[in-house]
Amino acid sequence: MTTTHEYDVVIVGAGGAGMRAALESSQRARTAVLTKLYPTRSHTGAAQGGMAAALSNVEDDNAEWHMFDTIKGGDYLVDQDAAEILCNEAVDAVLDLEKMGLPFNRTEDGHIDQRRFGGHTRNHGEAPVRRACYAADRTGHMILQTLYQQCVKQEVEFYNEYYVLDLLLTEDPQAAAAGGEVAVAGVVAYELATGEIHTFRAKSVIFATGGAGKIFKTTSNAHTLTGDGMGIALRAGLPLEDMEFFQFHPTGLAGLGILLSEAARGEGAILRNSTGERFMERYAPTIKDLAPRDMVSRAMWTEVREGRGCGPHKDYVLLDLTHLEPAHIDAKLPDITEFARTYLGIEPYTDPIPVFPTAHYAMGGIPTNVTGQVLRNNTDTINGLYAAGECACVSVHGANRLGTNSLLDINVFGRRAGIAAAEYALATEAAPELPADAAAAVAGLVETLRKTTSVTGAESVAVLRRELQETMDRNVQVFRTAETLAEATAVIASVKERYASIAIHDRGQKYNTDLLEAIELGFLIDLAQLVVAGALAREESRGGHYREDFPTRDDAGFMKHTMAYATADGVRLDYKPVVVTRYPPMERKY
Ligand SMILES: Cc1cc2nc3c(=O)[nH]c(=O)nc-3n(C[C@H](O)[C@H](O)[C@H](O)COP(=O)(O)OP(=O)(O)OC[C@H]3O[C@@H](n4cnc5c(N)ncnc54)[C@H](O)[C@@H]3O)c2cc1C
Repeated sequence: MTTTHEYDVVIVGAGGAGMRAALESSQRARTAVLTKLYPTRSHTGAAQGGMAAALSNVEDDNAEWHMFDTIKGGDYLVDQDAAEILCNEAVDAVLDLEKMGLPFNRTEDGHIDQRRFGGHTRNHGEAPVRRACYAADRTGHMILQTLYQQCVKQEVEFYNEYYVLDLLLTEDPQAAAAGGEVAVAGVVAYELATGEIHTFRAKSVIFATGGAGKIFKTTSNAHTLTGDGMGIALRAGLPLEDMEFFQFHPTGLAGLGILLSEAARGEGAILRNSTGERFMERYAPTIKDLAPRDMVSRAMWTEVREGRGCGPHKDYVLLDLTHLEPAHIDAKLPDITEFARTYLGIEPYTDPIPVFPTAHYAMGGIPTNVTGQVLRNNTDTINGLYAAGECACVSVHGANRLGTNSLLDINVFGRRAGIAAAEYALATEAAPELPADAAAAVAGLVETLRKTTSVTGAESVAVLRRELQETMDRNVQVFRTAETLAEATAVIASVKERYASIAIHDRGQKYNTDLLEAIELGFLIDLAQLVVAGALAREESRGGHYREDFPTRDDAGFMKHTMAYATADGVRLDYKPVVVTRYPPMERKY
């Protein structure tokens, strides 16, 4: 059975980006928010360290320095018009949250306190600057709760545990003529509690579905970050931008990948190798441990490869907080120090913590312009379709995101997308008619998977997912070569082939998570393929993408965004110019 709903605006995702958009959209137009998780379980709630804005509350700072740092941090793949908006609108984004009641940490005289974070500097790289606004090490939790409370107050309509699985467009975006019109008509969702399929007809749709960290095994990301929104867009014929750029955060708990925020280093923690050396002094003499994440992660891998790793297998380095006052640690870093105690049995007051890079953030995603409108090729947009947050690529993070710029991104571009989507809906008489068989693709997918319960000798979702994640961890890491990428290509191709004959165990209609995990694995496979294809073709090293066989940045050949499409013949790659307004590419030294 299928139920049909109608709204002006449908927002997919109730993380920071989705709820910030909802606050704007629901004031202007009839809005529904569909989310596969209960809103306050979204990954934004796991964000720890802070949100960047040049408030200059504790040190001299300004939006222009922030913009420069963002562009240099992103290794000049950042679209500079978008970065300018991000940094100019940052102060208001923080003040909006403050007015909504977010309990930021305060200075003694009552202003929002700020701390240091990697790559954020004073006067174009002179020294680290205090730019991150924070609420202890649970900034994301506070943002998510604050936005949710405001949404409840504003009576935003939530559809919780609705998995959106398809996007309805008026035309195939690749078949449509260049310059021609393609519009959004709605989405199709699967209700977890009942197994029912719902179609939502809408004038505007905003995708705010978050990241895809689960393509890797060792990751800071929640289990639910399976890149659904990106995968759905790809299957609907849209390109994904810069997917080869995945950020590895330096300080995951060794062996586990659970994140210890960069705020630890912002508060003075130091990375040390097996000789006790503060090795970042060699790699980034000016800002040391507060260099951008791509550089710190490479430095850590290099220390381990050259035999200066710690522990019985010499396979991690140490994050040393022991010189910080316990009271300071308790006030500023309570959660992450508790993680070290709980998961590794380490007391951070007295012992350094074993850490190693963990897959953390997708710089790439669904391409948009600065109002959040989705692109179907290098220039044409789709009427009524928007994307914001980690699933989108606007691109403010380029080849490497600076810490604290994502919580900023979701607020700035979530807000912009919410306003633009509502305004478009108000200016549009009616949403396009839904095709009669709008729900057919999702119904077919669900039914096919349910039937597989009786097949014997079929492939297991868990086994295939592990093979996929393990090859990504091994071969598409901080360091890559043509050889490792070729191996990953082969493994993913085999996983994809075997995925066609998976079987699930649960036949039921209610809370069939077995079924949904199988569908999510499908998205992960498609996205991993794009990451590897983009990485293989990009024969240079830039930001988070480092090719040992092409170790330098090649601006003449590759200062361009990758636009990857899924076609019947496999991945097709195209490229799009980077928007440069103020800062021509320079050597990236810290
Ligand atoms: C441990 C950790 C710490 C971090 N710390 C920081 C930090 O200190 N500062 C910083 O700037 N950044 C940080 N980040 C990054 C930042 O938190 C995220 O990039 C950002 O919060 C993403 O927000 P979002 O709204 O785009 O997505 P999310 O918050 O992940 O929300 C995604 C939403 O989409 C919904 N959804 C997904 N798929 C579907 C589907 N198929 N159907 C329906 N709904 C769907 C989910 O239910 C969810 O509501 C951190 C990330 C992690 C993992």
